Amino acid sequence: MDLKKIAKSLQSQVKGKIKILEALSRHTTWQIGGPADLFLIPVDRSDLENAVKFCNLENIPVTIIGGGSNLLISDQGVRGLVIKLAGGLKKWEINGVEVRAESGVRLPFLVRQTVNEGLQGLEFAGGIPGTVGGAVIMNAGAHGGSMNQVVERVVAMDKKGQLKYFTNEELGFSYRSSNLKHRDDLIVLEVSFKLTQGNREELEAALKRYLLSRQEKQPWQFPNAGSVFKNPPGYSAGWLIESVGAKGWQVGKAQVSTKHANFIVNLGGATCQDVLTLIEKIQKTVKEKYDIDLEPEIITVGG
Ligand SMILES: Cc1cc2nc3c(=O)[nH]c(=O)nc-3n(C[C@H](O)[C@H](O)[C@H](O)COP(=O)(O)OP(=O)(O)OC[C@H]3O[C@@H](n4cnc5c(N)ncnc54)[C@H](O)[C@@H]3O)c2cc1C
Repeated sequence: MDLKKIAKSLQSQVKGKIKILEALSRHTTWQIGGPADLFLIPVDRSDLENAVKFCNLENIPVTIIGGGSNLLISDQGVRGLVIKLAGGLKKWEINGVEVRAESGVRLPFLVRQTVNEGLQGLEFAGGIPGTVGGAVIMNAGAHGGSMNQVVERVVAMDKKGQLKYFTNEELGFSYRSSNLKHRDDLIVLEVSFKLTQGNREELEAALKRYLLSRQEKQPWQFPNAGSVFKNPPGYSAGWLIESVGAKGWQVGKAQVSTKHANFIVNLGGATCQDVLTLIEKIQKTVKEKYDIDLEPEIITVGG
């Protein structure tokens, strides 16, 4: 693939800057990931649509990332075009208890706006990094709340630029998953939420409590991607990992956090392979001791 030639043709279709061999470690919270052949942050929906249609016609694979806060990207990077929506699609509006946000809006920012308006329902997500789109795909949740409780509908787009609409039921939400997860053919454009009128002071207090508890329990000092494994039914993944003595285990520059066993932190210069080796070691040890399969929550991309 002649990257320069393709980049030039693609650049003529979009306003956002097309970058060649952009290091994806700059776009993931883990700060891990090799280069994307081509990389774009679309400035608006038409940019996104033009880029996706171009790639569809030219048979160029497209990978969508939101805020990169749940991603483990290969050291070899990603072939084709990587489109990052955080910082791109970022319009939002609040009308009474109805909230509408484009998929690139940062979740903590949107939560702040809803709490300012005294709207109840999204405050659980105040400390979940990443975008509105990524949160719907993952059915992100915390503190007893999750996206399925507040999402009303989603507008998505396929690779030909056709719009698709989904109600809450059609999204098929389950624990850290939805029907849109691993649907490489669809991109979330916009999400509508239905909240309820609440008491602003109480919401502020809840938000503060949630953020403080993260600060106390999570290793925010080091790059990470949140919980690495899902909680198996009836168990806490963190407890299982801690109980096999894995806290502090290190492969290369990746370490099982000494603060929270379900986090793997990048001590500086960790590779995707370091993290994958650590993940396998944890899975093997937990399986041997408890006969439980730990399923990764994080999504691996590229390679
Ligand atoms: C410090 C920390 C704390 C965290 N705490 C929590 C927590 O409490 N609860 C929780 O659930 N998660 C948590 N996470 C994980 C992560 O923040 C969530 O999963 C988040 O919702 C991912 O959003 P994102 O925009 O970063 O998505 P990404 O990681 O960029 O992408 C996730 C998946 O969604 C797809 N995707 C993203 N946007 C779109 C789109 N618009 N259209 C189509 N596909 C898309 C990607 O292709 C990928 O498959 C935490 C992460 C960190 C780093």
